[in-house]
Amino acid sequence: MARLLWIILIAVSTIGNTFADGVPNEQLNRFAEKIIQAKKRDLGYPVNQNVQLNDFYQWYLDTGLSNSLMNNAGNPLNSHGGINSHAFEKEVIEFFAPLYGFDKNDLWGIVTFSGTDGNNHGMYFGAKELRAKTGKAPILYVSEEAHYSIKRLADLQNLELRLIPADPMGRMKISEFEKALDPSKPALIVIAMGTTFKGAIDDQKAIDDVLKRKKPVAVYRHLDAALFGGFLPYTRHRDLVNRTKFHFDSISVSGHKFFGMDEPAGIFLTTHTILKNQNPFHIAYLNDDMPMINCSRSGLAPLKLWWIIQKNGKAGFTEQAARIMESTRYLQERLYALHYPHWINDYSNTVFFKRPSQWIIEKWHLAPDYDDRFGGELAHVVIMQHAFKPAINEFIEDLKADMAANSGNETARENVSEKIPLPATNH
Ligand SMILES: *Cc1c(COP(=O)(O)O)cnc(C)c1O
Repeated sequence: MARLLWIILIAVSTIGNTFADGVPNEQLNRFAEKIIQAKKRDLGYPVNQNVQLNDFYQWYLDTGLSNSLMNNAGNPLNSHGGINSHAFEKEVIEFFAPLYGFDKNDLWGIVTFSGTDGNNHGMYFGAKELRAKTGKAPILYVSEEAHYSIKRLADLQNLELRLIPADPMGRMKISEFEKALDPSKPALIVIAMGTTFKGAIDDQKAIDDVLKRKKPVAVYRHLDAALFGGFLPYTRHRDLVNRTKFHFDSISVSGHKFFGMDEPAGIFLTTHTILKNQNPFHIAYLNDDMPMINCSRSGLAPLKLWWIIQKNGKAGFTEQAARIMESTRYLQERLYALHYPHWINDYSNTVFFKRPSQWIIEKWHLAPDYDDRFGGELAHVVIMQHAFKPAINEFIEDLKADMAANSGNETARENVSEKIPLPATNH
């Protein structure tokens, strides 16, 4: 009898805990709940947690495409058919190209796996282009505060790297760049369009002036615009990511930062002229058309990006960019009113400040950093589409409570604030 009861109990307790084919889902459900709770307080990382792909997945299931494999191996701008989404990838590339000043008639690009993947292509294409033009190996110049992927990729690609010191706000020091520049070698320059921690943008005009004065044998500029490249085209600062104004040769933007992809992806754009100077590696079974680094590539990511573009359009992205800038200013005003030491770069959605207590770091998933010039321990918030007023208000209340609990330390904080004045913000 007891045994029967036991069996019934087990049977009842497993209802709703397995999928029809017997895969246990309890573990998955707990996991899903945890992620959905955590994402609301994701203030420290530059991702749009306001993902809106339910209707995409509904369509994906309804059509049965969810049970198919697509593989975008090959050149999306010169597709030779196959079970892939090249037609959509091409439309995604052609949607973004004019926003960054690329001419449809001299364009090449792909949907990448990530911002890093786009940087890998930019540096690789740049090095090849410069060697083809000069027969010499280039030197890579990048600010010390640029994303670490540049250093990793320089190592991977065996490029001679010159790390240029940055000013306290994180921008490449132009005088140091001028000192480091060797005009006898081709210059491969990666421009940080939003450094990781402080959100600094390198001064492209000043870099250009140095290049005009020192005239290196050849120059290639790659823009690492993983985060800022997402929203800047929809603000009045759009020229910063426009190659007709600043002459960069390629750009990498992440798809999962501003645009609201639900998994890492990105876009890489360059010109067809540069594409022609790449190693073609004749690969007959892929139509001799494999200039990109990866063979197999996602067929699903371009479909989702295409969907996101259709849903939002330029109008939707413009509205989101404006709200991000507005909310960043709101956070700044609230911090200012609290006399809480904080700093922000021009054009940026990244506010960095004196690091609060550990419970706040954990609750809001804040990213930590350290810089003596700003009094030591720092943290930052990146304002994205899920981080508008209600989240900011709650965050500020937490900071207030933290300040009250640590009121003995306030004088030290005020001093830091006075030492480094707030830069004029240019939203
Ligand atoms: C996020 C970021 C990267 C890395 O991009 P992933 O998409 O995470 O690979 C590179 N550079 C900058 C400036 C970034 O913000």
